[in-house]
Amino acid sequence: TKWVYAFGAGRNEGGAGMRDLLGGKGANLAEMAAIGLPVPPGFTITTEVCTAFYANGRSYPAGLEGQVREALAGLEAATGFRFGDPANPLLVSVRSGARVSMPGMMDTVLNLGLNDATVAGLAAKSGDARFAWDSYRRFIQMFGSVVLDVDHHRFEEIIDEVKRERLVTEDTALTAQDWMRVVEGYKRVVEEATGRPFPQDPWEQLWAAVGAVFGSWMNQRAITYRRLHDIPSEWGTAVNVQAMVFGNMGDDCATGVCFTRDPSTGANILYGEFLVNAQGEDVVAGIRTPQPLSKAAAKPGEVSMEEAMPEVFAELLRVRKVLEEHYRDMQDIEFTVQQGRLYMLQTRNGKRTAAAALRIAVDMAEEGLITREEAIRRVNPASLDQLLHPTLDPSAKRTFLGKGLPASPGAASGVVVFSAEEAEARAQKGESVILVRIETSPEDIAGMHAARGILTTRGGMTSHAAVVARGMGRPCVVGAGGIAVDYAAQTLAASGHVVRAGETITIDGATGEVFLGSVPMIEPKLSGEFATLMAWADSIRTLRVRTNAETPLDAETARKFGAEGIGLCRTEHMFFEAERILAVREMIMASDEAGRRRAIAKLLPYQRRDFVDLFRIMAGLPVTIRLLDPPLHEFLPHAPEEIAEVAAAIGTDAEAMSRRVADLSEANPMLGHRGCRLGISYPEIYEMQARAIFEAALEIAAEAGAAPIPEIMIPLVGMRKELEITRALVERTAEAVFAEKGARVDYSVGTMIELPRAALTADRIAEVADFFSFGTNDLTQTVFGLSRDDAGKFLPTYLEQGILAKDPFVSLDREGVGEMVRIAVEKGRRAKRTLKLGICGEHGGDPASIAFCQEAGLDYVSCSPYRVPVARLAAAQAAL
Ligand code: PEP
Ligand code: MG
Repeated sequence: TKWVYAFGAGRNEGGAGMRDLLGGKGANLAEMAAIGLPVPPGFTITTEVCTAFYANGRSYPAGLEGQVREALAGLEAATGFRFGDPANPLLVSVRSGARVSMPGMMDTVLNLGLNDATVAGLAAKSGDARFAWDSYRRFIQMFGSVVLDVDHHRFEEIIDEVKRERLVTEDTALTAQDWMRVVEGYKRVVEEATGRPFPQDPWEQLWAAVGAVFGSWMNQRAITYRRLHDIPSEWGTAVNVQAMVFGNMGDDCATGVCFTRDPSTGANILYGEFLVNAQGEDVVAGIRTPQPLSKAAAKPGEVSMEEAMPEVFAELLRVRKVLEEHYRDMQDIEFTVQQGRLYMLQTRNGKRTAAAALRIAVDMAEEGLITREEAIRRVNPASLDQLLHPTLDPSAKRTFLGKGLPASPGAASGVVVFSAEEAEARAQKGESVILVRIETSPEDIAGMHAARGILTTRGGMTSHAAVVARGMGRPCVVGAGGIAVDYAAQTLAASGHVVRAGETITIDGATGEVFLGSVPMIEPKLSGEFATLMAWADSIRTLRVRTNAETPLDAETARKFGAEGIGLCRTEHMFFEAERILAVREMIMASDEAGRRRAIAKLLPYQRRDFVDLFRIMAGLPVTIRLLDPPLHEFLPHAPEEIAEVAAAIGTDAEAMSRRVADLSEANPMLGHRGCRLGISYPEIYEMQARAIFEAALEIAAEAGAAPIPEIMIPLVGMRKELEITRALVERTAEAVFAEKGARVDYSVGTMIELPRAALTADRIAEVADFFSFGTNDLTQTVFGLSRDDAGKFLPTYLEQGILAKDPFVSLDREGVGEMVRIAVEKGRRAKRTLKLGICGEHGGDPASIAFCQEAGLDYVSCSPYRVPVARLAAAQAAL
């Protein structure tokens, strides 16, 4: 087996395509050398050696030693130096390099090959004894701490001692003699700590360093990191051994790191820093302040590389161009300058912010480096959500309070309030408030709207708070179980802090974290690149993207973000406004149909107005309006004092209301008297809603401009007969309105598919439906038999134990729920070829679920307004 691959000096046995075998660093060193960039020669010991090492009880495979000796001989031939030769010593660096960069492992040993004899040779060859002894002490220090496990403080103490004696404070003030004394001290420290003298044999040094790299693959930090990032331990790490170049040989030497573009904004500039006369670890150690590379980035007093080393800078610019053209992506590189010559030590694709990823993708496509399709592929759709909301300043200090689920992105600070009314009252006075509830209900809508952010201690990703907050674009954290809310005391308690109503907290809806006080934020800026990428995405995707919205504001926001209609208008959300909730409650309290009709008549004008607004905003685009869905008890008060108050307001007595509340209470309301079951028991409710829709549609149709496209949707249908009955009611109402007004509009009637029975009998249901919209929130709930509102209690355990890979209320469960969708699509389309198919559960805004929708052959997805751009991009990726 070949265990060792050479790179550099005209002998490249590897390449970028071999990262599994050579690790990221080794593969790219070979690649850079192969495309003619200046790379000091070296060789890579493969990841297979690491795997074999552990498979064979920590022993190396036969043949490895011979191959390493051969490679080292090659290195000697290429450089003209010899390993361990006191007159002309070859020095090497030893670095780890896994397939993916992995903190927690042994990183780097430099200057390996130095000993008491070769240090003299290095001094003589370089003509700089100070440099040679400084290099030697660096080597002992690095080797001592990372290979021999000597506490690094012990080395620092020695330097401090020498500095004290010499009355100097800077390392740079130490002479060759001083470094010699430091080396003596270091060797003493090593011998004391390990019971053996510092190894003088370069070959022994090399094997120990290689062994340390492989050993670090199984240290606790590395194991933990792998577990958190799903990196299999079979991957192993490679080891790179490379001829040293020196950045610390004088003022024409330097070391540095840079990105080929700005990793935080994506701007097309060389972005990085360097240190003159220094070795790699000095940049990281922070002893001296690194200087910027380009003059434009230099602050007063700083000297850029562009000014200090113009020729090297020009070379670096050339290398940058070569690298970007070759890798076709932004690179993160490490380099060293030795006596005015640039050497490349590493390159890899650079990490970047969401904003930078977007800008770089679009810029590179426009520069012709990549195709538009590639640009679309490179931006993570979920990250767009971040760009539309404020985010916490990453450098800001913060005091952690607790953590819940990241239900709706964005960060918000405000004073704590514990009720929706208080939220409205304080917001009216111009205060920023965070509404904190154990959980929210439809009654809280206005308060949620008034709040800057919402925090609940109970509930999952499709709980009321999560769904509504996402729809409004309010940052929201749900299910923060570690935070104790006490409504009576008006406090929340967490992490040893007690926060009273009126005190300030900050929530981060992108991470689920909650902090004490107000944490500084960065406001979002929508760049031109955003619009460009969206336009490219639109030209590629085949899925349409609609929005879930019921208020004019949300509908407008969604249109601004590119929504192509409304896929779900939850009409119950319209029932909670101050005046109309009275009429709703009157309707529920009415003892007979006549009473109900009187109350409902009061609601009609409100509903008509709502729909007029939506049709106008969405003129020419489909608007799917779902008739009333939730169980009626959700509209009634429950606390005794509230019952009394509400009873008085609608002129009935508290006792009757209490009785009605008790009547309506159900053991399992999610499976109870809701959805089309309501419309069948109380047809006058659906009739009023249908009338409001048709009257509004006729009003808009009469205006100049695009015609309304109403789609009436019946919720929670499980049997064909349910849809037949409710559909007939809608059609009768339509004909009545058309006859009264002497005009008609086109409309369609469809159903949600959110019960297993509906999916399994979709062929029968399709015969009476114009469209299906998959209500995957309820469908997930009913397919799994998993309560949307209670799953938060045990889902985290399921995720931890790997019983579920992802929260099925966030990302559609392809295996079970997905199968149900496929069955319904297949049966539905077979029965009616023209059946329109969409999804309006929360999954409509989740990229992985959108990919599923594409595969399943749906026509559109519908999601909350702020996720419309996410869905447009995800749909484009799904179509590629
Ligand atoms: C659903 O069940 O997926 C849905 C969209 O309806 P709701 O969330 O209002 O129950
Ligand atoms: Mg539903």
